[in-house]
Amino acid sequence: VSEEKIILPEASGAADAPGAADNEVKPFRIEGEMEAMDVRGRAVRLGTVADQILSAHDYPERVAHVVGEVLALTALLGSMLKFEGSLTIQAKAAGAITLLVADYHSPGELRAYAQYDAAAVSALGEGATMTEIFGDGFLAMTIDQGADMERYQGIVELEGKDLSDCAENYFQSSEQTPSAVRLAASKNPLTGHWRAGGIMVQHLAQGDDGGDRMPGKDRKEAWQRAKILLGSVRQQELLDPALELNELLYRLYHEDGVRVFRPIHMVRGCRCSREKLGAVIANFSSGDIAEMAEDGKIKMTCEFCNKVFEFEV
Ligand SMILES: [Zn+2]
Repeated sequence: VSEEKIILPEASGAADAPGAADNEVKPFRIEGEMEAMDVRGRAVRLGTVADQILSAHDYPERVAHVVGEVLALTALLGSMLKFEGSLTIQAKAAGAITLLVADYHSPGELRAYAQYDAAAVSALGEGATMTEIFGDGFLAMTIDQGADMERYQGIVELEGKDLSDCAENYFQSSEQTPSAVRLAASKNPLTGHWRAGGIMVQHLAQGDDGGDRMPGKDRKEAWQRAKILLGSVRQQELLDPALELNELLYRLYHEDGVRVFRPIHMVRGCRCSREKLGAVIANFSSGDIAEMAEDGKIKMTCEFCNKVFEFEV
């Protein structure tokens, strides 16, 4: 795959309107002197895409916040798929949020939904941790790239302060790729619109990225530096429509140098259809169907997009 390369800061187009680069994932690489730091990353901003997905449901703010963050994470990870396919992140738990599902379908379709216990959600304190929000549970990531590729699934316990922590644990245990992740989501109090964003950096195995190699000690230091700099990013910076991602990446990594690759565009997408939901109904017995029907009709709602399909029975 040949990707157009843009070297910062010249590329941060002043002509771009604020928020013009929303709904994009930007792959980047931290260059270092020898182009051999082996640190690559991805940054994402979701504006209207996050808002449309979240506003299809009437979630309590706490729940919408987690769904917004998982959307940013799903965009970061899904956009790494090398072949056409899908990536699904699913959290199952017994706490205030009982189910969280988000998926990415190439070339950039995102969708997500959550199920929750309303009373438990409203009882959550300020700054509740992942463990407090979800209780005991697991986060699973599934990659499906079609019949020719083996389906892959990794699972990690839902632990830590927030979803960023949980994602880092996941990479540590399932992928053995040292990774650092920062995610954010928030609702504009004036407009009521949601935004989500995130940045992930990963330390590649030596030699994965081509080029001359650095001595081991320098590689380690370079990775530590990349991680610490990511840790310094503020939630507001991850979300601010007036701060272009290119500018933010430059702000974080200008000392080593950062190279940004062609962005991947994100859209809200759902793959529900009359046929699929009809097939679900067809699996029920005629007795069950009669019980489900009201005035000779069965209504099925897509949990992702909340679209209602009506079937006559
Ligand atoms: Zn749908």
